[in-house]
Amino acid sequence: RPDIAARIAIAVGAAKPFPIIHALDKVDLTIRKGEVLGLVGESGCGKSTLGRIAAGILPPSAGQVFWKGEDRATLRGSRQRDADLEAQMIFQNPMAALNPRMTVEKLVAEAPGIHGLIKGSTSSYVDDYLAKAGFDPAMKKRLPHQFSGGQRARVNIARALAVQPEFLVCDESVAALDVSIQAQILNLFMDLREQLDLTYLFVSHDLGVVEHISDRVAIMYLGRLIEEAPVAEIFSRPNHPYTQQLLAEVPRIRPGKRRFAAMKGELPSPLNPPKGCHFHPRCPHAHERCRIEVPQKREIAPGHISACHLNDKQAV
Ligand code: SF4
Ligand code: MG
Repeated sequence: RPDIAARIAIAVGAAKPFPIIHALDKVDLTIRKGEVLGLVGESGCGKSTLGRIAAGILPPSAGQVFWKGEDRATLRGSRQRDADLEAQMIFQNPMAALNPRMTVEKLVAEAPGIHGLIKGSTSSYVDDYLAKAGFDPAMKKRLPHQFSGGQRARVNIARALAVQPEFLVCDESVAALDVSIQAQILNLFMDLREQLDLTYLFVSHDLGVVEHISDRVAIMYLGRLIEEAPVAEIFSRPNHPYTQQLLAEVPRIRPGKRRFAAMKGELPSPLNPPKGCHFHPRCPHAHERCRIEVPQKREIAPGHISACHLNDKQAV
């Protein structure tokens, strides 16, 4: 079994005044070295918050983030710096992430320069990482606005790779791109995984993207992880009624293309989630217990975890 790269254990969502901090409740997620873990949920479910915490750019208000077995909050000095570099985040909007006044070359050289990672010539260091990201190094003297969305995404990826990370958190990293470009960038992520031995947390609301790229999938609903399984298992035998509803009656337009089903009812406010099982107001199987008691996670098949009271009934 592969080593654990990261584990996020959040005991209780602390009641801080900012909604974003309130977003997680008893989340415990383990990411294994070398895997692609897809994290799925509707917008507002807390998946971006969890992604930021995993990448180490947002400290959890309660609980711990373990990176290679060590609590990130206890790291100091060079160990902290290494952990910061080893986990990198790739955001949705490359334009917002790229300083418009810096050339592509400067953008890619910036962080590794600061951290002393460039041993030889900066120019060839930059060329190497641009080439890895599928960007033509001959164009490195230009500014980001001179490129298409797909090319900017590659610059953004080269910038992340240039600090030699081991773990990439991709938050809707291809969502803003045309479908054909999306496929290219997803394939790039997969190639890089092989070449550079990367581990990914892939945050997305797009089930097609997640099915294409993930080894395992975790499903979030209103700040809780409600189901986790290998990718083939989650798509063929979804257990949790929420997951089933996500996947139900979604016409497979073409292989690899899935969209969210239109779900009954509104997503309740994460600031005032329903008691018991958060999903009970929208669940066709909800019963009295669901309104009172939070369902605990159970392993219902090897590596397949689900938090629904119906699994208790079946076990009896
Ligand atoms: Fe539905 Fe109850 Fe299961 Fe929640 S615990 S998903 S409400 S059956
Ligand atoms: Mg988001």
